Amino acid sequence: MNNKKFTISLKCLFCDSELQNDSEIEFSSGDMLECKECGELNDYDALVDVAIDEGKELAEKHAKEEIEKMFKKTFK
Ligand SMILES: [Zn+2]
Repeated sequence: MNNKKFTISLKCLFCDSELQNDSEIEFSSGDMLECKECGELNDYDALVDVAIDEGKELAEKHAKEEIEKMFKKTFK
């Protein structure tokens, strides 16, 4: 199985707009992400906490879809 990355949207903790992630940049613990909408700095660790909750739901849904796809491919 290949490693599939799925993206979880990070939302500004102050204005709730989506933080645009430059795909070139990898964020890590302790980083501050500047919101382009309101200019506030978001603590990466806090964002991840929120994203993890969101991601759990997403991952379950995604995993189901992937498994279905896999089966379809296998039994063609
Ligand atoms: Zn903001």
